[in-house]
Amino acid sequence: MDAIVIGAGIGGLCAAIGLRRRGWQVTVLERTARFGEVGAGLTLMANGLRGLDALGVGDRVRAAGHPDTPGGIRTASGRWISRIDGAAMTRLLGTSALGIHRASLHEILRAALPADTIVTGAEVTDIGGQVVYRHDGETVTRAASLVVAADGIDSTVRARLWPGHPGPVHSGSTAWLGVTGPWDGERMAAISWGQGAEFGMVPLGDGRVYWFAAVNAPAGRYVDDDTAAVRARFGGWHAPVPDLLDATDPAAVIRTELRHLATALPSYVHGRVALLGDAAHAMTPNLGQGANQAIEDAVVLASVCGPDDDIPAALAGYDRQRRPRSQQIARAAEQLGRIGQQLSNPVAVELRNTLMRLTPPRTALRSMARHADWTPPQITQA
Ligand SMILES: Cc1cc2nc3c(=O)[nH]c(=O)nc-3n(C[C@H](O)[C@H](O)[C@H](O)COP(=O)(O)OP(=O)(O)OC[C@H]3O[C@@H](n4cnc5c(N)ncnc54)[C@H](O)[C@@H]3O)c2cc1C
Repeated sequence: MDAIVIGAGIGGLCAAIGLRRRGWQVTVLERTARFGEVGAGLTLMANGLRGLDALGVGDRVRAAGHPDTPGGIRTASGRWISRIDGAAMTRLLGTSALGIHRASLHEILRAALPADTIVTGAEVTDIGGQVVYRHDGETVTRAASLVVAADGIDSTVRARLWPGHPGPVHSGSTAWLGVTGPWDGERMAAISWGQGAEFGMVPLGDGRVYWFAAVNAPAGRYVDDDTAAVRARFGGWHAPVPDLLDATDPAAVIRTELRHLATALPSYVHGRVALLGDAAHAMTPNLGQGANQAIEDAVVLASVCGPDDDIPAALAGYDRQRRPRSQQIARAAEQLGRIGQQLSNPVAVELRNTLMRLTPPRTALRSMARHADWTPPQITQA
């Protein structure tokens, strides 16, 4: 029984690993011709790590990452408004979160698949009864018993199968992402909130630090000189923010306008096609859950969908399990963005900070751990 996975991002690779464990013959079609050091860092939460354990790659991922030493949330001047007790968090969830370079995670996931599973330079252009893609200058048509659309936020499959859906929209924020060179300064996972701006840092397993900086900005506001823009906005923030910027190769800074699916999809399933990851529920990054949710999708899909199962019935189960949770997390991420990074009125910012300082640490901890507390289903090996 053949399964086709469209897209070799984190979601697609996890789906391929899970489906192969169930006994599927899997082909992953990826439009990129070559994989390089793409992207910056990522935080894997307890839910994502447990999902990777269920896929058999958790130990390799942990070895390549850096267990979070959680700091909490500060103001732009460096005053703490919420501290996280890392040990209590680990006791609550059984694991700390993990900072990892996206390219390291991607490499580990690719290595868990036979080399001929992924077909690069294969861009899916249409999907009806069959999958149509361009490869080596030719148009190829292939049938499969199961198709997993993991083709990201601008999913071709979603646009084709849900033509009435408006697709992703701009969230009102732009972010810059960077990774320092070797770094021997402060190493903790922490976020700082200013007025309509946020700066976050996440230590990586190789001694570097991943940082992200987000500001309120309409689409198209920033077009060039990213280093100057980030320095202008964050150069005067508390230590070590300016030093992290200094320690980063300006050529490697990535700018991304933050978009999400503001209109939730009515289903993640169409016939024998299942949407997964950002294709299904692209969310704002405020909870750091986008990739973690893609991993959950992949694990649940593999758990409900064996090659001998009634596929439409199995996919209905996938949709039932995944849609409510992932869409609720997407809503929560958007709400956190509004009261966190995007809040710009100085009076409202001061009020929020005061309320956060007054929140008992236990309540803050539980609220942060809430979304990460997920137990993966069993994937029965073929
Ligand atoms: C600033 C920022 C910070 C983030 N931080 C975190 C974090 O800390 N933790 C976290 O969990 N998430 C985070 N995320 C979200 C996370 O990056 C995404 O949710 C996740 O990578 C989505 O994975 P995916 O596999 O669904 O999609 P993608 O990674 O986008 O992969 C889609 C793949 O499909 C391929 N493709 C697209 N179209 C086609 C086609 N027609 N044919 C063939 N192939 C195709 C693409 O080339 C790509 O390889 C962050 C996002 C942003 C923007």
